[in-house]
Formats: sequence, C-alpha cells, structure tokens
Amino acid sequence: MLICGTCAVERDEPTPELCPICTDERQYVPESGQEWLTLKDLERSGHQVMMTENEPGLFAIRVEPKVGIGQTSQLLVTPAGSLLWDPVGFVDDSAVQRVLEHGPVLAIAASHPHMYGVQVEWSRRLGDVPVLVSEADRQWLGRDDANVTLWSGSTTIAEGLTLHQTGGHFPGSSVALWTAGAEGKGVLLTGDSVFSNPDRRSVSFMRSYPNHLPLSGAVALRIAAQLGELAFDRIYGNFNNIIASGAKQVLKDSAQRHAAWARGDFDHLT
Ligand SMILES: [Zn+2]
Ligand SMILES: [Zn+2]
Repeated sequence: MLICGTCAVERDEPTPELCPICTDERQYVPESGQEWLTLKDLERSGHQVMMTENEPGLFAIRVEPKVGIGQTSQLLVTPAGSLLWDPVGFVDDSAVQRVLEHGPVLAIAASHPHMYGVQVEWSRRLGDVPVLVSEADRQWLGRDDANVTLWSGSTTIAEGLTLHQTGGHFPGSSVALWTAGAEGKGVLLTGDSVFSNPDRRSVSFMRSYPNHLPLSGAVALRIAAQLGELAFDRIYGNFNNIIASGAKQVLKDSAQRHAAWARGDFDHLT
C-alpha cells in the first residue's frame, strides 16, 4: 500500500503513475509532481497523530506535520461505541491506542473520496471495523478490502448517529448527524458536502474547493433543504472549521446567497 503525497489517500500496489483522485478536476497534482509515500516514510520523517477534545464526546484528530490535504478527522464517541470520521492519511500504534482509549470503534466513514485517508489501514489496526463507503463513489476506492461495506441514502451506526448522502461535491458525498452533540441540539459533520467558511457565519457549496468550481444554485438549495430536515445546531467541517451555533439558519441563508450570485442577481460592473 502506498499513500498519495497530495491527497494522502491509500492505494494498492502497483499504483498508477498518477493518483486518480488528484488528476480529477476537483483536485490537482502539484507542480513538483506525483509522490507516493509509505507509512514508514511518514513515521521516519516525524509525523504524529494529535488528538484534542472539541466538545464532550467529540475529538479532533490531525497529523503533524500535515499529510496530504491535512484534514482533521473527528472521533465521535457514543455509549455504544465510536465513529472515526474522515480518517487522516497516517496511523501508528500510539494513534490506535489513543482512539481505543475511548472505547471500541463501530465504524470508519469518510464524507467523500478526498477524505478516505488510510481508512483500510485504520480499520485493520482497530480490529477490522467496517469501513462504510458511499456506493456512488466506489470507483474512487484506491484500496478495496473485505472490511469495506457499501451504503447509500442513509444509514444508522448507533442510536442518535446516522449518515446521510447529500451528493453535490461527489455523488456519494455525505454528512454525519450526531443528535446528542452541541448539548443535545445536534451536530453535523459535513466534510466538503457543506464547507464552513473562515467568517464562521456562512458555508460554501463547491464541486472543487482548490480549483474554485462552484455547484449550481439549484444543488446548493437542494442540499440545504435536505439537511434542513435534520435536527442540528452546530457544524464541524473537515479542517475543524466550525459554525458554533445557529448552523441550520446559516446553511439556509448561505444556500440562498449562493443561488443568487450563481443566478446572476448581482453584477458588480458598476
Ligand atoms: Zn492523490
Ligand atoms: Zn473534497
């Protein structure tokens, strides 16, 4: 297994010359060229998994120095067990131990292919836990495995913890809903399905974030309407970018703003 240096998604050997996820129009191969790494390479260059608490029952996990896209995973702990969401592209024994200190892991799931990380490697080291993969995106799996379980539409991981397919960024793009989060008001983990902006009071809806390709207004409105049916107040994005409260209204307002600009309601020529 090798890890793409740009997106940090694992891939069976022999790998293609270029990472299929990075050559897609939503990502990029850097000017310096394709790099394939091993876990040993990353360990030798001092990479470590860091874990911090976001709120009771929710832990942010990231790799320092960053690997690939450099996402923040979330370990979501329920009384029945945990979900490892958007798994990072590096794992070592100490990371596994720290995850298991919070109880058994029920499942690993990524919001979309950019966030697959080394999900199968995590699964094997955590005791062969299921890797839930949105069926519409199965073509992007770089490493197929007996632990991979396909799902579509929505699926329940534990009481009060469900996955919902939104499409948009990828056909299988999804979010995780945790009803007990945000002091019982509900938390949504959104990956790139909905992106919490740096202003912390708006979100974006994009086909490509690095290459700045927006989704249509119609799709933004559809996603906001679909998620509007769920009970939540807070959003965590895949870089631990947070809409701390009132997230449902933020989502609705942001989708309307996006649709208005995409429609051409405003043209700042004058
Ligand atoms: Zn890649
Ligand atoms: Zn993405």
